[in-house]
Amino acid sequence: MPTLILFIDALPFDDLARLPRLAAWPATARLKPGFGYSINLHGELFAGKTPDQLGFFGEWALDGSRAPGRRYRRILPLLDRVLRPYVLNRGLQSLLTRRYRPGRIMPNLPLGWLADYSLIGEKVDSPRFPAPTVFSRHPQLLRVPTTGLAKGSRDAAVTERAAQAIAGGADCLYVPLIDLDGIGHSHRRSGPQWAEHLGHLDEWVDLLADGFLARHPDGQVYALSDHGMADVHGAVKLELEAVAGRPGAGRYHYFSDSTLLRVWVHDQTLGPAIAGYLQEAQVGRLIDHDERRAWGISDERFGDFIAVLDEGLCFKPSTFARNIPAAMHGYHPDVSSQHAVLAACGAGIGADSLAGVERTLHVHAVLERALSRPAA
Ligand SMILES: [Zn+2]
Repeated sequence: MPTLILFIDALPFDDLARLPRLAAWPATARLKPGFGYSINLHGELFAGKTPDQLGFFGEWALDGSRAPGRRYRRILPLLDRVLRPYVLNRGLQSLLTRRYRPGRIMPNLPLGWLADYSLIGEKVDSPRFPAPTVFSRHPQLLRVPTTGLAKGSRDAAVTERAAQAIAGGADCLYVPLIDLDGIGHSHRRSGPQWAEHLGHLDEWVDLLADGFLARHPDGQVYALSDHGMADVHGAVKLELEAVAGRPGAGRYHYFSDSTLLRVWVHDQTLGPAIAGYLQEAQVGRLIDHDERRAWGISDERFGDFIAVLDEGLCFKPSTFARNIPAAMHGYHPDVSSQHAVLAACGAGIGADSLAGVERTLHVHAVLERALSRPAA
């Protein structure tokens, strides 16, 4: 049956009232995201799989077997010491990783670490993604392409392309509206650019839904996001090395994504000092075992310790980036600003249609049901 899926990157449920047309759809649900970033949240939304089930948490993980610098393992630490100036250091990193995974984000890894970490997280639309997705199960679901479009003006062009596809008779369409995320990172959620874009999105989403349902009265439309956004008001300098010494083989490793910290402890005598530091730093919290299981991040390969910063804080520098963004996501899933949106309208959709849909992990079943509806 005809289905239109509108993906709005980073639209917080807390901002739904600022999109009055979308907010008026018959069914809306507040979604707690999983821990982590898009690479895993998309796995939840479109494949219904947790990080534990997919075998990766984050894009990069401690894994030397596929690391971009594995062949230079012996000389990298030396180069790191020689190439102290940041620009030189990054220059050599770009050279070494140029052919590694084109189009993927290379983090802010010190050169000496390039032999220890691999990019193992796969995107849902990649043939390497390890599970069936709504895209692989429903090849009739047409993705409106975003390639070649300039950041910040992609959504307008994608809306135009989607409107043309609908006018041309497309009855199973996935429309990625992805600019809001970058607008938040660059300009803050409280800024005028964010507010202006919310206004556009409300108009575009409603326009596409109306156009689709006018052509397909038996169709359904879903609008959904993967996470929310919170303004960043403080930087956290990670002092782990002052407590546990230099990381390395036989000692420990850490990776500080902007808001999340993963620590792998190889020398168990370092464990108490690292845990003590993370508990006493008062900038976030250590995720305990029960909570890791509940959110599907219990796999030991994801780290012996996983900690998340308090809302509004970011590591500076982090293994992911040198500087902090104006706004960020990836905080604890219980934090209100991080909650995502699912909204539905169309044939058979009523106020209780999304009852019980409370996590990004639950969205896949909703989409699967919609895409599998038999023709009337
Ligand atoms: Zn983002």
